[in-house]
Amino acid sequence: MIQPVDLHCHSHYSDGTEPPAKIMRQARRKGIRAIALTDHDTVEGLAEMQLAATDAKIDWLSGIEMSAEFQPGTLHILGYCFDPKNAELLLALQEIQQARAERNPKILAKLQALGVSITWDEVVRESEVGQVGRPHFARVLVRKRVVRTFFDAFDQYLGKGKPAHEEKFRYSPARCIEVIRKAGGVAVLAHPIQLGLKDPVELEKTVKGLADLGLGGIEAYSSSQGRKYAESYVALGRKLGLIITGGSDYHGQNKSKAPLGFMGAWARNGLSVVEALREKAA
Ligand code: AMP
Ligand code: ZN
Ligand code: FE
Ligand code: FE
Repeated sequence: MIQPVDLHCHSHYSDGTEPPAKIMRQARRKGIRAIALTDHDTVEGLAEMQLAATDAKIDWLSGIEMSAEFQPGTLHILGYCFDPKNAELLLALQEIQQARAERNPKILAKLQALGVSITWDEVVRESEVGQVGRPHFARVLVRKRVVRTFFDAFDQYLGKGKPAHEEKFRYSPARCIEVIRKAGGVAVLAHPIQLGLKDPVELEKTVKGLADLGLGGIEAYSSSQGRKYAESYVALGRKLGLIITGGSDYHGQNKSKAPLGFMGAWARNGLSVVEALREKAA
């Protein structure tokens, strides 16, 4: 069930709940042999992850997950094996962090206008390190009993189309792929199910378009994708010459249905995937 390689997880530097070192210790206990930390739009946790992984004798890849502009669902691009010090990448991430910093006060103002008693201090206090985002707002709403659960916070206030939702600037898929590749990395389409494309013809057209832009892989195995989906993504990836990858999308306590190393009982994610990514990046 637990795969030897997990290429998708989040630490408290983005919207997970644990420090990278704690995730690496858990990975060692589970027998995971190679891992990539893929925090949203930040490389801040990578240095700590690399130290802890080396300590735990776990092989590691640099990683990131970038949110791209897309309709109707969400399009996330994973990056692997890039240089985390690449100037163009760091500049792009800085711009995204700037957009986040401009959006957060708007969410706060919307919540306050809705009569919710909440301050910026309370939100910041939910985030030990790294970036502040909607999960931290959600935790305050739960703590103050404005909503019952973390998910209710998104359902009632913070989710797309809900009264305290605020759009955030995103790069185009082309730009995400370009930035990752120019930093020496490989771009992989994360959890294709979240694209929200039910029609297989539409899905293939979209993924083919991304492949033409330089996409190198597809995350066929994910805790969020059932067997039928996984199989169809494997077939599509093979057809388009993409590397087939897998990741749990671990977020600690923020996502209890995605244990570290788990990406479906049918998943196959071994060390050859890591080799293929490295080869492609080189
Ligand atoms: P942000 O980047 O600040 O807009 O926050 C996005 C994060 O909020 C995602 O990465 C998820 O961790 C979380 N999130 C977004 N929508 C939902 C939802 N409907 N239910 C639970 N968590 C969500
Ligand atoms: Zn996340
Ligand atoms: Fe994602
Ligand atoms: Fe993720």
